[in-house]
Amino acid sequence: MDKATELARLKDEAEQCRLCGLRQGCNRVVFGEGNPEAKILVIGEGPGEAEDQQGRPFVGKAGQLLDKILEVCGFERFTHTYIANIVKCRPPNNRIPTPEERGICMAYLQRQIEILQPPIIILLGATALQGLLDPQAKITRMRGIWQLWEGRWVMPVYHPAALLRNPQLKQASWEDFKKVVNKYREIVDSAHYSAHC
Ligand code: SF4
Repeated sequence: MDKATELARLKDEAEQCRLCGLRQGCNRVVFGEGNPEAKILVIGEGPGEAEDQQGRPFVGKAGQLLDKILEVCGFERFTHTYIANIVKCRPPNNRIPTPEERGICMAYLQRQIEILQPPIIILLGATALQGLLDPQAKITRMRGIWQLWEGRWVMPVYHPAALLRNPQLKQASWEDFKKVVNKYREIVDSAHYSAHC
């Protein structure tokens, strides 16, 4: 079975999911989207209002900023990345998902990772960092530092919503994304083009 078919089957399964209470309060399950053959997996926290309405990840203001950041890196979401979240259903009032909700929903993300086999993972913000790597980890300490996790290169960065709230973080975040571009050139495509780095 090819990756696209495996992902489609898993998506069908997630759309029927009622394993935690988040499904009761949301409109749509936001499974994820992108290129099944992508070498970069981008992981966020969970759907917000716009994502819950559209059933797609990162389509609100933070998502628009993410697309811009990817663009300056020479990446395009449906070509170079696959984008998913730690939890697939929107937490009420955009609260942070509880450790229990994260723990239950992680099974889907783990299976996405098994299917995608991405050599590079970008973690957007504290919840993604804590959900995948370490529940005690601090994004302010670990952002910009490569982590080797299960044979994959993992880069924690600030969540785009944090950059919208605090534009002073943008320069530091850009430095982190430049490291992703360099790693991509090193292990995926030495000819990868970005006009900006
Ligand atoms: S958040 Fe995840 S575990 Fe909870 S109902 Fe939605 S898909 Fe299932």
